[in-house]
Amino acid sequence: MSHSGRKSVLVLGGSRGIGAAIVRRFASDGAQVTFTYANSAAPAEQLAEETGSSAVQLDSADRAALAALIDSLGAIDVLVVNAGVFVAGDPLALDADSIDQLFTININAPYHAAVSAARQMPAGGRIILIGSNIADRAAMPGMAAYGASKAALSGMVKGLARDFGPRDITVNVVQPGPTDTEMNPADGPLNELMHSFMAIKRHARSDEIAGMVAWLAGAEAAMVTGVALTLDGGFAA
Ligand code: NDP
Repeated sequence: MSHSGRKSVLVLGGSRGIGAAIVRRFASDGAQVTFTYANSAAPAEQLAEETGSSAVQLDSADRAALAALIDSLGAIDVLVVNAGVFVAGDPLALDADSIDQLFTININAPYHAAVSAARQMPAGGRIILIGSNIADRAAMPGMAAYGASKAALSGMVKGLARDFGPRDITVNVVQPGPTDTEMNPADGPLNELMHSFMAIKRHARSDEIAGMVAWLAGAEAAMVTGVALTLDGGFAA
């Protein structure tokens, strides 16, 4: 807990979409929230003002800056790593540098952020990564790199759950299915195809993902660790 007695929460990638919903949820639950963004300064400042949280411009690909920010925040009760990028398409045509960048942001950054946060995290702390249902089912061509990056997180949380469990810190990954954001708009071109895989044939709302994150961060989830929790409307069923 921070000096004020409020939970201290850091959300990496909080300016838009699912991350912004997570910021809103923790702020309305009374937490003291800091969030990062890469490029969207105006939405980030607006969200910070609206929710009484702090916005920090920080590219998750910059490992040193990420570690420095986390060190400077002191004891964080909850770390949520939401920042992620989506690159899909024919692997024979995709640019190799953009794939390396995807692995840096989607795999390396969550690992280094989790380790940095754990250094000062108190007992009862929570590390929550945002993965994807594509980790478990590619479903369509073009998903190899993105799916690999998100599948890496389920191995990561199993290992870190064992590393930090003795300190009463849980580590989990939340795997959304199609969720209505700028990354995957509910009126996008692949919607019919995506919904055809689902038992509940609609995109999730970002606040539905934030609800699962808030539950994981709460006292009821103290025994939940090292797992992937999927909210995909039955995409993988
Ligand atoms: P958006 O593209 O709508 O938002 C991404 C957020 O992450 C933005 O706040 C963005 O900041 C931030 N971000 C991206 N790259 C970086 C970076 N290098 N450094 C810091 N912040 C960064 O994505 P979604 O909300 O849709 O997705 C959020 C997470 O959920 C991702 O990890 C994604 O893979 C995952 N996901 C999404 C699904 C979906 O259907 N939408 C399905 C399954 C998983 P900025 O605004 O500055 O660009």
